[in-house]
Amino acid sequence: MKKTAFVTGGSRGIGRAIVRELASEGYAVGVNYLKAERQAETLAAEIRERGGAALAVRADVSDREAITAAIRETEAAFGPVDLLVNNAGIAQNDLFQDTPEELWRRMFAVHADGDFHTIRAVLPHMLHEKAGCIVNISSIWGLRGAACEVAYAASKAAVIGLTRSLAMELAPSHIRVNCVAPGVIATDMVSGLGEETLASLMDQTPAGRLGRPEDVAKAVAFLAREDADFITGQVLTVDGGFIL
Ligand code: NAD
Repeated sequence: MKKTAFVTGGSRGIGRAIVRELASEGYAVGVNYLKAERQAETLAAEIRERGGAALAVRADVSDREAITAAIRETEAAFGPVDLLVNNAGIAQNDLFQDTPEELWRRMFAVHADGDFHTIRAVLPHMLHEKAGCIVNISSIWGLRGAACEVAYAASKAAVIGLTRSLAMELAPSHIRVNCVAPGVIATDMVSGLGEETLASLMDQTPAGRLGRPEDVAKAVAFLAREDADFITGQVLTVDGGFIL
């Protein structure tokens, strides 16, 4: 029987690459999306056409009831979630003194509360089975800090703290919790930065290129592998050497 994966923010960018990668590895995938119904449905259809299994499910990860219902819908179709990937995220670009309180709260609602809600929804079954894998997407800015992205970096640092602490708590139950911290990845999220900034970020990357969504997806798939079962509580940086 296929294993079930649930990917938040799966309709585009890094999330879409993760969905494709996991589907190609044989997972049935719940593709969570916020607004982009057509993109999510197209992706799910593409996977089904290739002989895989996928279901597009709408929910805001910061809404506990909605995201729990989306997970239950996925489980009704494919069985309990074996692999949870918390990928949904939002960006910011403003000075700390100009950051509206609502934006500060929204960053934590999507990145930290979102992970709390999804993990709480899948955990009872994982604990019962004494098996399961959780991969949270943080950011190199959550490791290193970033000017003009204080709320983003602080909430992504929270994801790292959650990952490490929960990994310790769940390791005796054979449930692994890891984190991927992408560097600059060419997606819609960074396209607004403009060509000049992106060229400068590329210059600062020892590998000499921006990351691709597939680079991150491969790292997620690696951490989810059964033979990675001694790896937990780790932050795997996928950044072409940016923060070395
Ligand atoms: P993206 O903007 O293309 O995709 C983000 C996805 O998350 C979108 O589909 C969006 O609709 C979804 N989303 C946002 N808020 C949501 C919510 N409340 N509920 C459900 N879905 C929601 O960006 P991306 O680059 O693909 O980013 C994916 C993840 O990688 C994010 O967590 C981001 O912070 C992280 N990341 C990206 C980069 C980068 O350079 N692109 C770098 C480091 C980390």
